[in-house]
Amino acid sequence: MKESLDAPIRYLKGIGPKRAQSFNAIGINTVEDLLYYFPRRYQDRSHLTTIAALKEGEIQTIKAQVLARGQKRSFYRRGMSIIEAQVGDNTGRISCVWFNQPYLADYFKPGTGLILYGKVERYGAELQMGNPEFEIVSEGEDDMGSGRIVPVYSLPSGMAQRGFRNLLKKALDEYVPRLSDCLPYDIRSQNNLLNLAQSLINIHFPQSLDLQARAYQRLAFEEFFLFQVPVALRKLKNKERRGISHNIDSELVSSFIAGLPFKLTSDQESVLGEIKSDMASPQVMQRLLQGDVGSGKTVVATIAAIIAIGGGYQVAFMVPTEVLAKQHYEKISYQATLPDRQAGKSPNQQLRIALLTGSLTKKEREKIYRQIEEGAIDLVIGTHALLEAGVKFKNLGLVVIDEQHKFGVGQRALLTRKGLYPDILIMTATPIPRTLAITIYGDLDISVIRQLPPGRQPVNTMLFSHKDKAKAYEVAKGQLRQGRQVYVVYPVIEESYALDIAGAKKMYGQLKDGEFKEFNLGLIHGRLKQQEQDEVMLKFKEGKIDLLVSTTVLEVGIDIANATCMIIESAERFGLSQLHQLRGRVGRGREESFCILVSDAESSKAGGRLEAMVKYHDGFRIAEEDLKIRGPGEFFGRRQHGLTELRIGNPLTQMQLLKKAREDAIRLIASDRGLGARQNLLLKKKLLQKFPEYEKLMVVG
Ligand code: ADP
Ligand code: MG
Repeated sequence: MKESLDAPIRYLKGIGPKRAQSFNAIGINTVEDLLYYFPRRYQDRSHLTTIAALKEGEIQTIKAQVLARGQKRSFYRRGMSIIEAQVGDNTGRISCVWFNQPYLADYFKPGTGLILYGKVERYGAELQMGNPEFEIVSEGEDDMGSGRIVPVYSLPSGMAQRGFRNLLKKALDEYVPRLSDCLPYDIRSQNNLLNLAQSLINIHFPQSLDLQARAYQRLAFEEFFLFQVPVALRKLKNKERRGISHNIDSELVSSFIAGLPFKLTSDQESVLGEIKSDMASPQVMQRLLQGDVGSGKTVVATIAAIIAIGGGYQVAFMVPTEVLAKQHYEKISYQATLPDRQAGKSPNQQLRIALLTGSLTKKEREKIYRQIEEGAIDLVIGTHALLEAGVKFKNLGLVVIDEQHKFGVGQRALLTRKGLYPDILIMTATPIPRTLAITIYGDLDISVIRQLPPGRQPVNTMLFSHKDKAKAYEVAKGQLRQGRQVYVVYPVIEESYALDIAGAKKMYGQLKDGEFKEFNLGLIHGRLKQQEQDEVMLKFKEGKIDLLVSTTVLEVGIDIANATCMIIESAERFGLSQLHQLRGRVGRGREESFCILVSDAESSKAGGRLEAMVKYHDGFRIAEEDLKIRGPGEFFGRRQHGLTELRIGNPLTQMQLLKKAREDAIRLIASDRGLGARQNLLLKKKLLQKFPEYEKLMVVG
């Protein structure tokens, strides 16, 4: 009996325990993993050239022997080692040189057969190949390294391309006849996709570039499809789930809105419309609210909270930092009492609101736990502390999650499970293009606020090198002298946390005693006790601190209108979206404001990236750039969406295919959610292998 595809890799001939280990180290554990381990790139060696026919300036492939009497020397020129081999076929000879790889000398014994692939250049009177890629060929072996389009892999340690290629060839020969295609025939034929066997053969050893492209298309589709079927299933399940049908007290809502010191933008209005209709419906709301920094998402969420509370439910509002929790708490408490103040009544605490963070004492915390459980609190705003087991709601009706990218999907679910199918509103200030959002956050409905409130001006953004920092300081001083406030942000990354904190402190000391002697400076970073952080923030808010040196604790949500200038040190160390978030901390009032990026990476690739910050002010545009640069895996973070598991499909360049895969997945699930039809059985098997937890979603009820 032959082994099946999920047999461990060591069952393959030629793979012993040691080699198996190096395969495991790059994620190849089973035969199937190996078949799905795709080439990094290809070399078109389909045309072998004879040495006599080589053309100057072109990349070509030859098959030749190291000449018995050819020179093989190694010498040093300006500290560089050069290896030369004379090779020949029956039409002529040519010299090949390799720089700085002295160990190569061992390979080029006279008589050795080589496939050489490289650019032919003139050297003096003769032609030569510089740094060609080469492979040693032995007679009688299947030659997968020439006369064809040749795959190039990221190799496990201790293996060469040739060996790896031959191994793959053998695995394909042996296992392809036993492959079963998990994509149902209808879906394959409607999308004009190759079958699995053809695809795997052609992704590794393409018969033509066209077939390689079709193989890629098919395998990318498969990946997207397997990722979208469970999403479609979850979405269907959500739609069936009966949640809360909130009773909307229109008068309460209008009086809250009337009390606000501004008029809602039309985007805010329309998003609110969508949220209201979700909340009124018995289906569970699962809505993602995307909007640029400062677009006014919080007030929309607050109104949703007022609706839920008006109907007798409790609301949990989770944010990523204490400072932000406190800010929301204060703002919402104030806004909620505005209608009373305006009506000339004394502010009536009709909204019972609590703040729950990690820095409460045990006694305070337990008191709040009790109040939440008894239903004596309507709205609790908090950090991760909300996820603690002690937090039990009497009747949780709405969950709001701000800055969702800071939380994992699991944390979201944890909070939601504290109620009986509460509505969920998730907010993000790292907006991505709608088509991409729909597919990636597949089971969420999406609302977008595109407009900023009126009167906002784009933040004047500049890029300076370190040696021009004095200019940056001049801009900051100009602002300070007008009574405005300034942030100086210092990058602190996890990998070098202690060092970076020390850097931030040092910089604070230098600025305080130097450039900014005449002003009041403050320092805030994540290592300070929460209480100390709060004190600093409060002082800044009250204007007692003019210039705040800070780490990225500032990143999310902080809203202080008098701060009009931000200097970001070593800006190249941040991602674009993060820079945009940081920049969103200024320009929140009507005054002109400034964001100065300081970086010595100007000329490099990182510098080009930073130019995007000067050029673009739209968070959607910037997210798009950022996505392109960092790729979806890093952009969305490891915790989310299984995107990092995509081995071949790229949702950015393959948007149409992703969209199609999603549509097909939705259609399939609508017609056969249990995947019980005969043509879907293989798909079902594959899915349950990947996601055993979906079994229960496949049944109705
Ligand atoms: P974000 O979307 O980044 O969470 P916020 O909700 O913090 O934005 O809003 C940014 C600022 O804009 C806040 O000070 C908020 O009070 C104010 N704001 C919100 N909506 C409006 C509006 N329609 N008109 C004017 N200012 C608004
Ligand atoms: Mg916000």
